[in-house]
Amino acid sequence: MGRFIYADNAATTKLSAEVLNAMMPYLTDNYGNASSIYEVGRSARRTVEKARQTVAEALGAKTNEIYFTSGGSEADNWAIKGVMDILKDKGKTHIITTNFEHHAVLHTCQFMQKHGFEVTYLEVNSEGYVTPGQVENAITDKTGLVTIMYANNEIGTIQPISEIGEVCRKKGVIFHTDAVQAIGHIDIDVAKQNIDMLSLSAHKFHGPKGIGVLYIRNGIRISNLIHGGAQERNKRASTENVAGIVGLARAIEIATKDIDKKAKEISEKRDYLIENLLKIENTRLNGGRNRLPGNINISFEGVEGEALLLMCDLNGICASSGSACTSGSLDPSHVLLAIGLPHEIAHGSLRLSITEETSKEDIDYIIEIVPNVIKRLRSMSPVWEKIENGEQKSLL
Ligand SMILES: *Cc1c(COP(=O)(O)O)cnc(C)c1O
Repeated sequence: MGRFIYADNAATTKLSAEVLNAMMPYLTDNYGNASSIYEVGRSARRTVEKARQTVAEALGAKTNEIYFTSGGSEADNWAIKGVMDILKDKGKTHIITTNFEHHAVLHTCQFMQKHGFEVTYLEVNSEGYVTPGQVENAITDKTGLVTIMYANNEIGTIQPISEIGEVCRKKGVIFHTDAVQAIGHIDIDVAKQNIDMLSLSAHKFHGPKGIGVLYIRNGIRISNLIHGGAQERNKRASTENVAGIVGLARAIEIATKDIDKKAKEISEKRDYLIENLLKIENTRLNGGRNRLPGNINISFEGVEGEALLLMCDLNGICASSGSACTSGSLDPSHVLLAIGLPHEIAHGSLRLSITEETSKEDIDYIIEIVPNVIKRLRSMSPVWEKIENGEQKSLL
């Protein structure tokens, strides 16, 4: 058997055994509907409410500010579309976001433009950050909503969320953050950080897929995205995904325990991996140093991302790339273009996302394999040949 190293935890994570154990009774014997009045139903209700409390505690929120959704995408859609009518009534038809959000936010903002909203897409700098000053300058008397991601899913850069929250609070603008990559990986407190709405998703921190949360601060008015029954305090219809909710709560509890200590340990492994991969010539780190503990994103000149991923896969390493095929369009990742990379450099990118389960041996193995793979691919690359013999200038 060859090695298997899963280094694509920003795409999804492995369900933890402990989380599965917590969920199991609700996938088998405890199948009651949380809205039913007999005991198995009431017990499901108690379980859901207990889970809601656990999530609230992990976020620094109140229990009645936690709403379960089907995942991060739904939470993002709801946060943005949910304030549409209320903002329109107030004449607040301007939204501020950034040009490197996840598509769940970007495409929803484009949808809002079709429904009479004007959207400002703030440009992130070459390191992958926006500033509170940029947000403040973009706010007009028509601005109703600011939505800026906590940490980027491709390059891992962590935004100055508390400061942006402060600006928004001062200006009376609703502030939503897509914290899907951040929750369970860095310490977050919605109350202290002036966050009005926050999206998270369980499968990004060893919980199950198909369950997420939208935190909505008390006092923020938002209309339903999913209409139907009276679940989630009349705000989000559909029979509660009790097993998913239990799994999410257990996963967030585990992930946020000793979070600073774990983040530090993972960051050390990250930096060791980064330093070693940057020893390869004509290479750059994408995104600044204030980044998610587990995120590594490096571009290798003269290399195609797809070929790089295939070769990694052949060696048992699961990773991802911002190249065109993986981005699902003809263009490379909008995130890498947003930080100003030329197409050629964006195509040759590799994202490795590690967790506390990634061992030192795993990392040493990656450090052994990747340079060889790059060497091989470059030996077949006409572009690299020209760069090497000086016929073509490096784009780095
Ligand atoms: C994964 C992800 C989402 C989508 O979450 P799902 O639960 O898969 O719908 C949204 N935003 C970011 C930043 C993500 O990384």
